[in-house]
Amino acid sequence: MKRQHPENPDLFWCPKCQDYKLREEFHINRNRKHGIASYCKLCTGIIGTNSYYKHIERQLKYREANKEKHREYCKTKDQLKKARKRANKYHLKHPTYNSEYQKANPQKVKVWDANRNKKPERKQWERERGKKEREILTDRYIKRQLGYDKAFITNPKMIELKRQQITMKRTLKQFKEWRSENEPDRAVIYGE
Ligand SMILES: [Zn+2]
Repeated sequence: MKRQHPENPDLFWCPKCQDYKLREEFHINRNRKHGIASYCKLCTGIIGTNSYYKHIERQLKYREANKEKHREYCKTKDQLKKARKRANKYHLKHPTYNSEYQKANPQKVKVWDANRNKKPERKQWERERGKKEREILTDRYIKRQLGYDKAFITNPKMIELKRQQITMKRTLKQFKEWRSENEPDRAVIYGE
């Protein structure tokens, strides 16, 4: 089925509501053939709401079915939290303990590190940390963007400049997106 109306080129087909609609009734999507989304704005909204509720429903069902499991999970999580708190307190009292231990037992530390990195929850944690770092633009993240190893001491001015550059790029992207959504006819892209 052709997207465009065979006689009226101003009209486009929405396969969800099974109707022809004007260009303005679709969101912009430059990656697609006519530069518009496949479904009309109205349908896109409905699809979004539906999938949101479906997701919630599924989550509630899952929780209900795994109540015991979940309780068990909370318990272990609580224990881990307490253990971490204890460790932090100890670390404050004996700040050099860890580095001394690492120096004295390099082989043990190596094995421990390798095992830790194998755990799936570690991977998940790393992924989440990465996401967070990207969001709040930590020094570590920016150093990596600059191509530096995390141990490399960088000029703080350099980091700050890079941070500003990333922020600017993100703002520009937001601006472009906002404009193509709200003023599609005036969507002149600057800096491209
Ligand atoms: Zn539609």
